[in-house]
Amino acid sequence: MPNEDSFAKRIREIRGSTLESGDVHTFQVNVGLICNQECHHCHHRAGSERDELMDRDTMMAIVVKAKEAGVKTVDITGGAPEMVPHIKEFILALKNNGHRIMFRTNLTAFLDEPYRDFPHFLSEIGVEVIASLPCYYKEETDCLRGDGVFHKSIEGLKVLNGLGYGIKKGLPLHLVYNPYEPFLPPPQQDLEKDYKRILRENHGIEFTDLYSITNMPMGRFLDDLREKGLEEEYMKLLTDNFNPDTVEALMCLGQINIGWDGKLYDCDFNQAMGMDISIGGAKNIVDIDAENIPKRPILTGDHCFGCSAGSGSSCGGALVDKE
Ligand code: SF4
Ligand code: SF4
Repeated sequence: MPNEDSFAKRIREIRGSTLESGDVHTFQVNVGLICNQECHHCHHRAGSERDELMDRDTMMAIVVKAKEAGVKTVDITGGAPEMVPHIKEFILALKNNGHRIMFRTNLTAFLDEPYRDFPHFLSEIGVEVIASLPCYYKEETDCLRGDGVFHKSIEGLKVLNGLGYGIKKGLPLHLVYNPYEPFLPPPQQDLEKDYKRILRENHGIEFTDLYSITNMPMGRFLDDLREKGLEEEYMKLLTDNFNPDTVEALMCLGQINIGWDGKLYDCDFNQAMGMDISIGGAKNIVDIDAENIPKRPILTGDHCFGCSAGSGSSCGGALVDKE
């Protein structure tokens, strides 16, 4: 197990300084931790019992701040964002201000009432969809996400394809892979080819591209590692595979992450770790001077090795070609 500031040390060796943010182009907004699933790898331990939900006032404050900050992208995540009240109003307001909107779905929440019209709503206004599918086979997906989730996810993908997602220009459908065992993702491009071939042959499904994401040592995934006595081994895997080429591409450099209560973080993983920050003296998005967002030091920890191992990892997939 590396000592507490070993990631910061590695960064300093490479950059001559610790990690600092650049221009902010993305607000990543976690609208709440409620979810219809309880996946083994969930870094937030989301589930149906979680009652942390972003309220309408916070959503509307984000709409104003995103416009003032001039961010290109608003990336909406959860939990299952479909299940959060006022979410459609939030998305419409962001869309009206011209942001690129990314919406992360687990592919099953929108199969149930009252969320069934969600894919249609998203397609009508051209929101990008990022959908979790940890494997193209049932056994691995169900093992990670729960019994029956694979078949439901395929049903969800067919709904999205039926609306043109992954097929029509302007309706991209990005799939997300993450390993179902404590290993690093294989090369993203190779995996994408396998996903395309197998999902097409077995289910007639099309999608735009694949994001491969490393499981972070936190939340339920860490619980599992500890239960199996594999925490130390996994941390060694991450640190042994530290790739300096990933450093300037780390997603925290260009984004601010906002929690359900408006608190500010460098990324969704730091949010799960409770590592909130202040930006220009503001601890909540409501109070931030969005027209003058200063550069800030990034809070790091051992878990950051999850972003810098191998090809690197982010909410947008691998960071560099295979080392
Ligand atoms: S990983 Fe996603 S779908 Fe699974 S419990 Fe967490 S938020 Fe829900
Ligand atoms: S965990 Fe967050 S802060 Fe750490 S390197 Fe990854 S994106 Fe940056």
